[in-house]
Amino acid sequence: MPSGPRRRPSTASRTLAGSIVVATLVIGAVSGLTVMQMRASAWDQVGRVSQNLLESVEHMVDRNIELYDLSLQAVVEGLHNPEADGIAPSLRQVVLFDRAATATGLGAILALDAQGQAFADSTDPVPRRLSFPDADFFRVHKERGDVGLYIGKPFRTKPDGRWVIPLSRRLAYADGAFAGVVVGTIDIGYFNALFGRLSLGDHTRIAFFRESGELLVRSPVMEDAIGKDLTAAPHFRNFLEHRSGQFVATGYTEAIEGLFSYSRIGDRPLIAAVVVPTRAIAELWRPKAMAIVAVVAFLCGGMIGLTLVLQRELERRARAEEGALAANRDLARLAHTDGLTGLPNRRHFDEAFARARAEVARTGVPLSLVLLDADRFKRYNDTYGHLAGDEVLRAVSRVLQRQVGEPDETACRIGGEEFAVLLPGASGAEAAARAERIRQALARLQIPHVGNEGGVVSVSLGVAEVQLAETAGQSFAAADAALYEAKRQGRNRVVARPGGAEAVRVA
Ligand code: GH3
Ligand code: MG
Ligand code: MG
Repeated sequence: MPSGPRRRPSTASRTLAGSIVVATLVIGAVSGLTVMQMRASAWDQVGRVSQNLLESVEHMVDRNIELYDLSLQAVVEGLHNPEADGIAPSLRQVVLFDRAATATGLGAILALDAQGQAFADSTDPVPRRLSFPDADFFRVHKERGDVGLYIGKPFRTKPDGRWVIPLSRRLAYADGAFAGVVVGTIDIGYFNALFGRLSLGDHTRIAFFRESGELLVRSPVMEDAIGKDLTAAPHFRNFLEHRSGQFVATGYTEAIEGLFSYSRIGDRPLIAAVVVPTRAIAELWRPKAMAIVAVVAFLCGGMIGLTLVLQRELERRARAEEGALAANRDLARLAHTDGLTGLPNRRHFDEAFARARAEVARTGVPLSLVLLDADRFKRYNDTYGHLAGDEVLRAVSRVLQRQVGEPDETACRIGGEEFAVLLPGASGAEAAARAERIRQALARLQIPHVGNEGGVVSVSLGVAEVQLAETAGQSFAAADAALYEAKRQGRNRVVARPGGAEAVRVA
């Protein structure tokens, strides 16, 4: 294939490419927005579900603690009642410890004296020999009288090793002095069982912990994490900023990023949290988004592919059209050009002459016609051969090209060894002078021609200024007659038709 200079793409091709770029951008933007909206709505949905779940958890925990606290308060009141002193231990057992303490998940309630020694036990009329002088719940009540219900740090019971949360209240003498503590426990497994009944996704985690950082319950169960100090987690302070809220962070008990929803449990120093891993949220929207992206990419790809094919076809057609136009131009040029000399031909002369005459009629500016004929040219061919004759014709044409150069002036080869020159703006006399210069220019070439009178190639020229009153044929005949006259007078000369300039004669 010929490799020409790179062509500029056609307008149609550029419009097509531009539209497809715009369409692709618009489709890309719309699908991008859709995907972003899907993501936002998935996060929104998970946020709302987490919030509802959190409310259930908060309510459950608060209600259970409240119920258990009522039992503790009943024990405290019973012990403060002077009538409780002195009754039989088995009866006191019934009076002090109501039925709530025996409910599922709620452990034994003990009354401890001021030294931390158990003196009443919900499980046995004869209290077990248990003492907790160093436990946090004992020391807190011993040091302060206004604690109310205290939720202590979780610990393992002996001997079965279950994790429990101690709930305690202070016992006081009539004067307010510290008399001991009533303490009961809630089984952490009980909360795990409660939370297990909430329908959670596989990934959702529920937890609640003390404001001071100790993790109490985590569902699904993670034994190692119970009692762990969460204040070491970088995001822990977020829980303390507001009563409730949401934030995204990486978990502490499990290093997984997730959406944390948290809330204070009632007005207790406890915080409940629901965590949904970011990965689980992504699973809600990403597969659909991927499908959309794949379909859009496929469509856009197809569209671009089709456009490229179409564009190539448009380019091919434009090239073919251009080629046809160029061929037409060449044909038109060839139809008006003489093959031997490269000068315009007779057809061109006729058209140019008609145009020039119309111009004369319109503007009144003069127009002259010069006819030129090589002298004794038959003899030249006979003497030097046809090819040499052709060379002479080319020499004549070069002289004409040099001498006839003004805009609108035309020199044509109108026959075998005959030429015509149109000189717009030239009167007959001026045209005769120009014709004389042409004759001399050729004579100066001194091309040998033994059969000619002067021994060199010469030409005769006839000049006629075009008259408005005559037809084109009459003007041409007048110039031809002048040429004939030049031949008759002996050749190698210029003759203008009578009425124009005087005949110029050069020997
Ligand atoms: P005159 O001086 O009276 O014009 O004599 P002439 O011989 O030039 O005139 P004539 O019309 O008798 O002869 C013209 C010759 O021009 C005849 C022909 O062989 C020659 N001729 C015409 N066309 C060509 C051409 O294309 N090439 C060549 N080499 N000769 C041509
Ligand atoms: Mg002739
Ligand atoms: Mg001749």
